[in-house]
Amino acid sequence: MPVYVFSCHDCGSFELSRPMAEVGAAAYCPTCLGEARRVFTPPSLTRLSTPIRRVLEKEEASAHEPRVVTEKRGRPLRQRREPVPPWVLH
Ligand SMILES: [Zn+2]
Repeated sequence: MPVYVFSCHDCGSFELSRPMAEVGAAAYCPTCLGEARRVFTPPSLTRLSTPIRRVLEKEEASAHEPRVVTEKRGRPLRQRREPVPPWVLH
């Protein structure tokens, strides 16, 4: 049976295995017996530790909405409009 991840508003997420036909049915939190929402997570990701999952989420976010560069980095190019005479020390 596939394992699905559900999330309780108060207690956090938990895993539940149920037949695929019943995935749409309401799930209840094993801790507080409140109604839980299904979290849409690919099955392969449910066993990953939280930090890895966080990295994956971040990666996904940056693929969809790349961060826009708003400031220039590094030293500005020196602008030389006029050639400096060789006898001027600076
Ligand atoms: Zn709960």
